[in-house]
Amino acid sequence: MTIDFSKGNGLVPVVIQDNNTLQVLMLGYMNEEAFMKTKAENRVTFFSRSKNRLWTKGEMSGNYLEVKDLQIDCDNDTLLIKAKPAGPTCHTGSTSCFNEVTAKGFVYDLQATINQRIDENDESSYTNKLYRKGINKVAQKVGEEAVELVIEAKDNDDNLFKNEAADLLYHYLILLKAKGCTFEDIEGVLEKRRKSK
Ligand code: AMP
Ligand code: ZN
Ligand code: ZN
Ligand code: ZN
Repeated sequence: MTIDFSKGNGLVPVVIQDNNTLQVLMLGYMNEEAFMKTKAENRVTFFSRSKNRLWTKGEMSGNYLEVKDLQIDCDNDTLLIKAKPAGPTCHTGSTSCFNEVTAKGFVYDLQATINQRIDENDESSYTNKLYRKGINKVAQKVGEEAVELVIEAKDNDDNLFKNEAADLLYHYLILLKAKGCTFEDIEGVLEKRRKSK
């Protein structure tokens, strides 16, 4: 991949997107050196026009951007990076420098957290421990939570109902993971059904 740095006096704009939610987090610029450093460290480094130097996002705050995917546009003069942010990306403390309208949603964030606990084999994590017990145990848990939700549906306590609804969604996501599929897959099935109506 060759980036055309010539059009922007040695700088290319870089769109940063959250790898899980697809939310646009910020826009920065890179020169060739910033790009090389980003590739080498797998962590986003910009060229800051105001600081007039290389700027590794997170160098003060610790809110680094870990590179998950890097794409160049059709005419090689703009980059799109999907990243995993270590914390809020905007210096105001917001998740994004833009309004949060493009996010895929909370469920995807939750799915990502579940994947992380399992991938890191976090021994203190309930999620990971349940997952390691295997599909049958996970499926059984989903069954139990579904029954609890049905019971609470017949009650008048909204709080209990909401808690059981949360339990079910959470365990359902672990079951998807145990079955080797993702919420994107399920969304795809539902999307197809909607379109065929
Ligand atoms: P950080 O790179 O997160 O350690 O932040 C260092 C400094 O860079 C902050 O004090 C801000 O001046 C600036 N900064 C951080 N994040 C952003 C951002 N998303 N957009 C513009 N400036 C930023
Ligand atoms: Zn372009
Ligand atoms: Zn900002
Ligand atoms: Zn429950």
